[in-house]
Amino acid sequence: RSPAKRYEKGKGRITFEDVAGMENAKRELNEMVDYLKDPAKFTRVGATVPKGVLLVGPPGTGKTLLAKAVAGEANVPFFAISGSEFIQMFVGVGASRVRDMFRTAKEHSPCVIFIDEIDAVGRMRGAGYGGGSDEREQTLNQILSEMDGFQPTETVIVMAATNRPDVLDAALLRPGRFDRHITVDRPTWKGRLEILKVHTRNKPLSDQVDLERVARNMVGMSGAELKNLCNEAALLAVRSGRNKVEQIDFDRAADRVRLGAMREEPFND
Ligand code: ATP
Repeated sequence: RSPAKRYEKGKGRITFEDVAGMENAKRELNEMVDYLKDPAKFTRVGATVPKGVLLVGPPGTGKTLLAKAVAGEANVPFFAISGSEFIQMFVGVGASRVRDMFRTAKEHSPCVIFIDEIDAVGRMRGAGYGGGSDEREQTLNQILSEMDGFQPTETVIVMAATNRPDVLDAALLRPGRFDRHITVDRPTWKGRLEILKVHTRNKPLSDQVDLERVARNMVGMSGAELKNLCNEAALLAVRSGRNKVEQIDFDRAADRVRLGAMREEPFND
């Protein structure tokens, strides 16, 4: 069984170019990319690069994409696991999966580990909610001890994502663990425009399409929802027997995507 989803070097490589907007996050992560590319540059001067990065933001805002892009920029392997996978595992299984993943990662150093939904395992211990199961605590303890156990020669960046930083166990956030935090918010209208441009790159648009208008109208939409919007618009164009996407397709798609999104959560801006 494979310990984690794994993406090979080079194949389907995602880079910062695929991540629209998020300039601050990319700037902050550049140092990690540099470190992955040339760790000696840092160790020579005795600098310790933070190994753990916590990406904080609502669902669908591109946290996973950003983590993949860090690996892609440095052209190193990417190992991913989700905190929610550990729910309902037998005691000890989660911890051993974490151990396996870190072991494999160290063998492939330099590389990136990504733990999505870390709050599913990383909730405050003994806090009552989540049941405070032994399994979850063991998994969390294993993550903590792995974070402390890197050798200076092991160049592994561990990125984790959450939309609930408030529930995380303080031990996860201590220096040397996830001590660098990057906020990934829903995009502004300009960010939305950039995301729309990325996701219409390979779609023929009619000259009448006004992406700026689409971006301004899509208040509150995440990157994932905007990607979905572009795809829905393209599907509507095909259904209408056209080979170019028109403004009307975006307008209709917007209604559908909005309805879908509303069912999940109310907009807050
Ligand atoms: P979750 O917390 O639900 O896992 P996430 O924040 O990790 O969400 P992703 O899975 O990275 O979000 O985003 C889903 C998809 O939305 C991405 O694969 C990408 O196609 C698109 N997307 C999100 N944000 C951006 C962005 N800034 N630029 C381009 N595409 C984006």
